[in-house]
Amino acid sequence: MQPNSTNSLSPEEKQSLLAAVIDTSDDTIISKTLNGIITSWNKSAEQMFGYTEKEIIGKHISILIPPERLKEEDYIISEIKSGNKIDHFETYRRHKNGILIPISLSVSPIIIDGEIIGAAKIARDITAQVEAQNETKRLYEELKSLNSKKDEFIGFASHELKTPLTSISGYIQILERVITDDRAKGFLAKTMQQVSKLSSLVNKLVDVSKIESGKLHLNKTSVDVEAVVADAIQLLEHTNAPHKIKLQANGEPVTVSGDGHRIEQVLVILMTNAIKYSPKAEEIGVLIHYGTNQVKIGIKDQGIGIPADKIPHVFDRFYRVEDDPNISGLGIGLYLSHQIIERHKGKIWVESKVGEGSTFWFTLPIIS
Ligand code: ADP
Repeated sequence: MQPNSTNSLSPEEKQSLLAAVIDTSDDTIISKTLNGIITSWNKSAEQMFGYTEKEIIGKHISILIPPERLKEEDYIISEIKSGNKIDHFETYRRHKNGILIPISLSVSPIIIDGEIIGAAKIARDITAQVEAQNETKRLYEELKSLNSKKDEFIGFASHELKTPLTSISGYIQILERVITDDRAKGFLAKTMQQVSKLSSLVNKLVDVSKIESGKLHLNKTSVDVEAVVADAIQLLEHTNAPHKIKLQANGEPVTVSGDGHRIEQVLVILMTNAIKYSPKAEEIGVLIHYGTNQVKIGIKDQGIGIPADKIPHVFDRFYRVEDDPNISGLGIGLYLSHQIIERHKGKIWVESKVGEGSTFWFTLPIIS
């Protein structure tokens, strides 16, 4: 026999060469008649299913199929009879010892003289693949459950923090009335400032928890944008920030349909950030553009700015560009703002340059 040429082989020699190739293949190769009787069985099949060639030739293929999957064989045979091929069919087959093996099956018709006389199957053990898929699924479920536990905890903790905080600010207000000593009054004012910061943080956490549980509802009315902006500016001016807030509006003032308190909340968050992230600047700009279909509002600062690669993440929950220990925050203000504006069918985005400053814009549709 010429080792490098098959042309000179007799049909018998070719057949025995083919049989040797099949027998030594790493893949499990089995052939069967259209009635399901096993006609050939290679070494890999022996390893995969535990039956020797002698034991299994002449037996019905159902010996390998778990009872609840017997219908699959009807489907495979009907496809083969129609001359079709089945590729990478993922299923389970049974080892001689009863253990189920996850496999990927490819089945092709065996055609002799133009007639389909049986089927050839190649089976691959996909245990490792299935185990990896199951592990990924398990990890995903675990993560989902941890995440919902975390949301539950945030909801629970923020509500628990709210009660004592309300009571603390109540007592501070009483003390403000009874204390006459100027130094003590000064300490009290500082205490109240910190309590307000804490309250605002806790309120934001309560809102995050409302969003996660789908309970953040809008109380929509007709909202006078300029009045809401004026309220927010007034609130900020009471916080003793050194910045001047400069309002600039153009276009014909209109009302929008929305929740005035929530819109004011967004404005306060954006203005507070503008002050917080521009410690060396003296001014914050608030711009209102009245358009035909929408109002566009911008909060402009000349602060530290945001690196371009960080911009896509700033509206994510708990995201902070840099964990600067001198600037406190939890990374929820912009997330809340995004949620509130989206619920108003508006858009929110930022234009920013490191070292030059940022402008946070949002739009609100005008009532038609
Ligand atoms: P935080 O409580 O951390 O300020 P936010 O959700 O309000 O949370 O903001 C997310 C992050 O976006 C901030 O940590 C900050 O890094 C960045 N950021 C927000 N506003 C500004 C701004 N005006 N200038 C520069 N960076 C900002």
